[in-house]
This record gives sequence, structure tokens and C-alpha cells, in this order.
Amino acid sequence: MSDVKVRFAPSPTGELHIGGARTALFNLLHVRSEGGTFILRIDDTDLERSRADYIDKLLDSLRWLGFDWDEGPYYQSRRIEHYTAEAQRLLKVNAAYRCYCTVEELAAGREAARKENRAFLYPGTCRELTPEQEKEHLEAGREAVVRLRTPDRGTTVVDDQIRGKVSFENETLDDFIIIKSNGQPTYNFASVVDDLQMGITDVIRAEEHLSNTPRQLLCALALGYDLPRFAHVPMILAPDRSKLSKRHGATSVEEFYREGYLPEALVNYMALLGWSPGEDREILTLEEMIASFSLQRVNKTAAIYDVNKLAWMNGHYIREYDPDKLAEAALPFFKRDGLLEGDLTEPEFAYFKRVLEAVRERARTLVELAEAAEYFYTDQFEYEEKGIKKAFGKEGTAGILREITAELRALESFDRETTAALYDSLVEKKGLSLGRLIQPTRLAITGRMGGPGLFEIMELLGQEKTIARLEKAIVYIETNL
Ligand code: GLU
Repeated sequence: MSDVKVRFAPSPTGELHIGGARTALFNLLHVRSEGGTFILRIDDTDLERSRADYIDKLLDSLRWLGFDWDEGPYYQSRRIEHYTAEAQRLLKVNAAYRCYCTVEELAAGREAARKENRAFLYPGTCRELTPEQEKEHLEAGREAVVRLRTPDRGTTVVDDQIRGKVSFENETLDDFIIIKSNGQPTYNFASVVDDLQMGITDVIRAEEHLSNTPRQLLCALALGYDLPRFAHVPMILAPDRSKLSKRHGATSVEEFYREGYLPEALVNYMALLGWSPGEDREILTLEEMIASFSLQRVNKTAAIYDVNKLAWMNGHYIREYDPDKLAEAALPFFKRDGLLEGDLTEPEFAYFKRVLEAVRERARTLVELAEAAEYFYTDQFEYEEKGIKKAFGKEGTAGILREITAELRALESFDRETTAALYDSLVEKKGLSLGRLIQPTRLAITGRMGGPGLFEIMELLGQEKTIARLEKAIVYIETNL
């Protein structure tokens, strides 16, 4: 095992977003390709926005995706003493100081800056307070935050594994807060203390954090630890290059689950959002991704999310999935649609797998799979509008169906070969095209014009149901058309 250590550090303030999941995936691919340790850390110091139920959901989503972490979850909310101790250490050596400026004073400064059209930087009011001044502030009931003393001049350079060297002018960074007045650490401080104390070697995270990185580097320098390497992965944008949001469809892992995506398909798709294994390869197992992953091959530019491609890929996985696994994955969707309920007996499960085998060819999601299989589980379906005229409306259809029904009833075996042979012989006998026989039969027994092979459907439905549905269709045609 190498000494490579990465962490995925979600904030439990909502469902796991596709961007977060992709960050987790790149961490996983990197650490598995290097043979190191994957740490899960929950950044839950924002007490107002963090919620326990989101933590459970996050863990569920990560497990569903198959992202097994090696250590953790660690919770920042349970590590407050570490941040306090590190801040104390910085205060002692004067690398940090207490600031007593009130919210109102800071707001006034911010307002003034806004009027002059410049960015507000903390002016360093409390940088050099004497012990007496501090005492006065305390006696006046002011609360203290802790700020890091940052250099006024020079540059801080982030050497990013994806973007190369990115420089930040120190004069644009002010003495930022590391401990809030309620004693809670800020994100930048808690994150860097954890990364350093946990021995993280590679911080792989979203591009939106790049601007935080110089602050974290300054904290790390002040704390005197070795710096981790950084890699900021590109954003994921909607097809119109806007920020990905609800109006672009599912964006959280939970939603993808509910919409009937398979975890392997989602993982495969996410891997290609900003990375490619080369040679136009697109369908990859996790093992294959690990074998060819490198941060150097991750793009600098934003990735575009394309739901059609994801759906196509999901369809591929549905077709290729192990039948037992597909049945397990699809079952909740059949239950949700009221097609199945409770625990299936062995024969029911075996039948369910045969149904899936028949319909999986065309479905792109498990939701579509359940829709496509509806008529195997219910007689209560309507005839597809456009099929009624086309398949039922032609002169003589009821007569044809009646003859087919009589022949089907006489069959002793109802497997697909036997029924197919029967239809062939009827074609000869009646001088009609096969389509003329198949189309109304299909509409009668499925309510639809498309789907799996007719003889496969009939075999699955069985003789009795097939005949009952044909008889119902004959009555329908005779009364309505
Ligand atoms: N909790 C932060 C987030 O979810 C973590 C960022 C980081 O990886 O440092 O954005």
C-alpha cells in the first residue's frame, strides 16, 4: 500500500449532487490506481445548514454508487477541540490574532467598499491590539473571532496537478477568519487542519474551491505542516453552458436512483465528465477506469452534462446487466408501479426475470423497463390510439382474430416455435402478410404496436391469457369500429 491518502469531504446540506459524486469518483479512481487510503469526512461545522438526515442519505448514495471508503466517516463537528488547539497554537506565536470588530462595523466597511466599487478586505483594525485594548473590548461585551495574519505582499502559488501553477496576489487576500465568535472553525481552517492532521497527500476537489486554496496554503504554512498536492476538477455545466440546476432534470444521486439509473452506468458516465481513458473508449468497468486513470488526463475545461448520453449508457448497462442483479434493481420500480408486491416466490421471481429478458432490449431506465413490462402483469391496459385504426380498423380484422384464436386454442404446446409456425401456416393458408396477422394480435394482447417479439410475448403470457385478450379485442372491434 502506498502512502497516498485522499479524502472526500461533503457538507451534509443537501442531497449528493452529481458534481460531488464525480469528485468522490475521481478521488476513488486516483487512490485505487495508486493503492492508497480513501477517507470519508463529513464537513458538518455549519450548524445551521447541516442535517443528520442528509448525512444518512449521503452515505446511502455513496454506498449505492459502490464507493467504498477505507476510513471514516470522520465528523468535523466532533473534532472541534483540534481546531481550537491549532488556533491557540497560532495565537501563541502571533500568526493569528483576535478580532473584536462587530458585525455592524464590518458591514459599514463592506458598504463603503461597495460604493467605491472595490472588493472589501478586512482592514486589519485589530491586528495590533494591546492587552489593554483587548480587555476593554471584552468588558464592552464584544465577542472575538480569530483571524489569520496573512502577508500583505508577495504571491501565493497553488501548484495544481490539473491546472499547473495558479498565482494569487497576497494583497487580494485579507486576514480571514479561522474561528468564528461561536467557537466554530471556518471551512478553510477546519478543512486544512484535517487535511494536515490526517496526512492527506492529495486534495482532489471541485474547481469552485480553487480560490480557497491560497488561504488554506497560508494556514498550512503557519501551522508548519507539509503541504498536500492539489487537484481541482472542472465544473459540470448544462448543455447551454449554464450552471447545472433542477430545470436540467435530475442532478442528485438520489434522483438518478429514483429515475431508474443503474449505479454502474452513472459511475461510468460521471467518469467521462472531464476525463477520458483515450482511444474513444466509453464503456468501462470501475476496474478498467482505475487501470487507466490519471489526474494528468483530467481536463481543465468544464464538462458538459448530456442526459441523452447518460440514458444511452444506462440502456447499455440494462442490456448487459446480470439477470439476477437486474431483477433486484428493477423490482422496486415494478412495486412502485403496482405491478408486483411483497416478496416474490421462486417461480414468480423466475417469471419476472423472463419478462425482463424480453423487455430490456429497448429500455433506457428501470422506469421505462417497468412501463414496457406493464401488460405482463395487468389486463387493464388501453389500446394505443394510433394502433386502433392501423391494426384493428382494417376490414375483416375481427374475423382474422377469431380464426387465430380458434387455432391458438387448439395448440397443445404454446412455446414460441409452435405459435410462430402456426402464424406461418396461416399466412400460407389465407394469403395474407405476416404483418396483417401479427399487428392486431400484438395490439390485442399488449395494447401497443411495438415491443419484444410477438411469439416471445405469447409464450410468456401463456395460452389462456393470450386467448382471453384476443377475445376481448374481438368484442372491442365489433362494438367500436
Ligand atoms: N465541504 C466542502 C464541500 O463540500 C469540501 C471542499 C473540500 O474538498 O475541501 O464543498
